[in-house]
Amino acid sequence: MGRESVASVLAAPSLQLMADEIRYLKHLEKNPQETGTFIGELEKWRLAGNRHFNKKDFESAIHIYKRCARLGRGFESITTEEFRGRATPIVIMADSNCAQAYLERRQWESALQSAEGALSLGPQHVKSLFRKGKALQGLQEFKKALAALEAALELRPYDDSTMAAVAEVKSAYHQSVTGEFDLYNYYLENLPPFCSDYVGSVEIKSTATAGRGLFLTESMKLGQLVIVSNAIALGLAARGKFNEHLINLAFACTRLATSSVRYAHQFRYFHSRLKNQNARVPPLELYIPGSDWAPDPHSKVEPPGIEEALEIVRINSFDSSRIGNPEAFLDGLKDALGHTPPAQVNVCALWALPSLLNHSCLPTCAVSLVGKAMFIRATRDLPAGTELTISYVVSDSLDREQLTKAWNFACRCERCLFDEIVKPHISDAVQMFSDIMSDFEARLPRALEPDKLKYEIFSRLIHHVEQRIQNLPCKLDDRQKGWVRFIFQRGYMLRIVFCPQEVSRLEKIEMVAQLLNIYKAVEAGTCGLNLQLAACLLKGVELEYGRSSHEYQSTRKVVAMHFHVALGEMDDDFLDKLLKAKFSSDSLAPFFNEISRSEKGYQQHTFIWQSRSQQSLL
Ligand SMILES: [Zn+2]
Repeated sequence: MGRESVASVLAAPSLQLMADEIRYLKHLEKNPQETGTFIGELEKWRLAGNRHFNKKDFESAIHIYKRCARLGRGFESITTEEFRGRATPIVIMADSNCAQAYLERRQWESALQSAEGALSLGPQHVKSLFRKGKALQGLQEFKKALAALEAALELRPYDDSTMAAVAEVKSAYHQSVTGEFDLYNYYLENLPPFCSDYVGSVEIKSTATAGRGLFLTESMKLGQLVIVSNAIALGLAARGKFNEHLINLAFACTRLATSSVRYAHQFRYFHSRLKNQNARVPPLELYIPGSDWAPDPHSKVEPPGIEEALEIVRINSFDSSRIGNPEAFLDGLKDALGHTPPAQVNVCALWALPSLLNHSCLPTCAVSLVGKAMFIRATRDLPAGTELTISYVVSDSLDREQLTKAWNFACRCERCLFDEIVKPHISDAVQMFSDIMSDFEARLPRALEPDKLKYEIFSRLIHHVEQRIQNLPCKLDDRQKGWVRFIFQRGYMLRIVFCPQEVSRLEKIEMVAQLLNIYKAVEAGTCGLNLQLAACLLKGVELEYGRSSHEYQSTRKVVAMHFHVALGEMDDDFLDKLLKAKFSSDSLAPFFNEISRSEKGYQQHTFIWQSRSQQSLL
């Protein structure tokens, strides 16, 4: 191979050399005696990249690695036979480390490009094969990821991290295809596992009112898994900094969409008021791991600007109030916050496919999180064709239209229409409740200790509500009664919180069972409180009636239902372990413990409990 001219270097599109770099290379071409110095400089740049990398300044590291790799490649194209190959090992390492820096920033497509750049010069570079595998794993291209990781393992057998990655990718591939996720260890004790995305039997269709939505193509059973979706971006900020977590999320989104064609396309389909709301229907393949989705080569998609990204995250993200414990977002927290305790952190995140779920005040889906993976399950048996919905708002308020303002729609679901009819007949109870609550909230934050007076206030309220339900001009079924009670659910809850010790255990069981039933009527499985109450109820029934009783067996079925909606299928043994591990230390658990059994109370209440448990709970 002879010597190539600088002109031919310039013609190579992959190099994209900067003007000053070209000048330098031209100089070097005329002064080959400076090659040694140049190689030394190249190595210095690579090390400077490493320094930035170690300080977690990935952006600067990427910039330096790229310059190093560009110049190294440029040099290899112009240099003589004598010097050829001297820059190559440096370029391979710069590309490979650059891939790692992109991995740290979750910019999977860029990480893949850099890893492939390194592999084009050194096909057997183990680290680059590993990083290629991790990038493909991030892109949820599990089959290709496995090929890269297995090639790395062949070159360096028994390498711990590669073996771990292979196992993880194999399991993720299985998850993405079958929808089977083994979460037993996670629920009992461990950190969230890596979960792949999974798309069950659904389709995206346009709807008359909400633009587009997700619909079932097959019937689903209660608790069945419909979708698993990982957050595509996180926004974190210390508490007290107004909206900073949203702004951080918006920046993360623009970065993501700039680095990836697939994400750029996904961003087109988020709701945003800045662009047209003509609700284009995205192809489902865009969200399916390993699908053969490919961008239309004729239409170039621009990533959103920061203003649009802010609008997108404001409308589509879930914040701490919806996603609960920020500790679940471990890998985002570690770097973004250093030593700030999770309790002092505002966190919000964006999910792509779930953003297409429309709102209902009686949602067909329950949402639970395993780390960043959002699990969406059916809250009841659903026939094919059912629209999948979640509740966007805390839905015990009668004025829910105020809450849906942000999304610019008025909900006209079954429950909203029902509320309109019932509203005038319960207005005095609503007023009473609002007076009690404002008085109560004015006294916060005081310890929520059992308090006889407060217990009586809430008991009176609930008595009043129950009277109103009895005397409504229209006849309500059990579900509709639950809807009315749900408006006052915090009252039902606080009555339990303030319940004094001398109240009989059976009355307490009644109270908890009633509250659980209220949740079942509206948002079964969507809130952790369901699970705590279910566990608490079972404990109470066990203490009162014993494990072999009919009451215990019926309650267990009810409890299993609530767990099933939230967490999916589980056997009896697991249910026992879960109740013990998760809820034995819960604040509600001692609720039943201290009370001695009252024979009189037992007879009085057994009838009520049995009849209610048969009528409504089961
Ligand atoms: Zn509604």
